[in-house]
Amino acid sequence: MTSPDRKQETFSFTPGASLPNGLGRSGVIHTPHGDIRTPAFIVVGTQATVKAVLPRDVAELGAQAVLANAYHLYLQPGADLVDEAGGVGAFMGWQGPTFTDSGGFQVLSQGAGFKKVLAMSTAGLASDDVIAKGKDRLALVDDDGVNFRSYRDGSKHRFTPEVSMRIQHQLGADIMFAFDECTTLMNTRGYQEASLDRTYAWALRCLREHRRLTEERADKPYQGLFGVVQGAQFEDLRRKAARDLAEAEVDGQVYDGFGIGGALEKENLGTICRWVNEELPDDKPRHLLGISEPEDLFAAIETGADTFDCVNPSRTARNGRVYTADGCYNVDTLPSKRNFSALEPGCDCYTCTHHTRAYLHHLTRANELLLYTLMTIHNERFHVRLVDDIRHSIETGDFDSFRDDFLGRYRRTKK
Ligand SMILES: [Zn+2]
Repeated sequence: MTSPDRKQETFSFTPGASLPNGLGRSGVIHTPHGDIRTPAFIVVGTQATVKAVLPRDVAELGAQAVLANAYHLYLQPGADLVDEAGGVGAFMGWQGPTFTDSGGFQVLSQGAGFKKVLAMSTAGLASDDVIAKGKDRLALVDDDGVNFRSYRDGSKHRFTPEVSMRIQHQLGADIMFAFDECTTLMNTRGYQEASLDRTYAWALRCLREHRRLTEERADKPYQGLFGVVQGAQFEDLRRKAARDLAEAEVDGQVYDGFGIGGALEKENLGTICRWVNEELPDDKPRHLLGISEPEDLFAAIETGADTFDCVNPSRTARNGRVYTADGCYNVDTLPSKRNFSALEPGCDCYTCTHHTRAYLHHLTRANELLLYTLMTIHNERFHVRLVDDIRHSIETGDFDSFRDDFLGRYRRTKK
């Protein structure tokens, strides 16, 4: 039987080139299912599928890894079934590395509010402004875990750090995240402090359970576990959370990497990343949860984030919105109707090398399903390639000029 310590050695991070600021860097995450060259954009496959795209085409568009959602797969088809299938990669027919999130964000975001502005407990719901109108509260937090109702059928469930670890071990992704509490920017300072204490206590419980499950499932590949740094917009809380997680250890089990989570305002995204990454060790990877806008990617990479995930490229694709170096546009506009050039001239994706704007415009008007596939391939390729190009610019020492050129053009024509 392989000891957890031996197994943990199969997961590692090798830092590469650095930016002059000492924070931004390239590198390689080594996982049992292959390497991820960083910075890297991780494609989201919430329900063990990148919506409308074959796994073969996900690989062809350059995605290095796929992130699935623990909460959704727990509800349907069930983590035990995915375990039986050999883990989420084998189940969905994806050969490369996989990530799962802890389910915390999805469970807790049912508390009130959505996206990055959230509140998850009765204390956090002091302000009516954070409660989405017309929504019943579906989740309640206590110090031990979260009670919630399924969005599918209203059935009652409970997640704790131990439950999240068990589900994520059954899903079998190469990288998983500790169960944490997200707060909103509207929560008081006192609430943020109490929440951070709770998240830290949960972080230790996750490490303990992760070690136990690693030992119990000795025949399975090692799964890297990332601690999630919270602390909202408070510098001292973010720095403390990062230091505490970097030093967290239970029976020799430490975190393999870190996630930067919770409420972020666009304006201070780079600042918060910098606070956190100045505290985190250089020899472990850092994942910024849920971002994809080009400005945000540049800001996060410059301040030391290595990987990113977001549903936005595929979600906007299904709404007919296309990303290009000249900004975003809707394919369902009149200038597209007789435009026989590519969605983005010069793009190397399948869609742009085989089809025209006029054809995509036609698919939109005819409500054809192929639109989803072709648009998603392009948008995901756009994000994957952008982050690959940023990595290249770090390695060749051209980051600043690449960023200024890219964002100058992107913003000038952004609609
Ligand atoms: Zn394209």
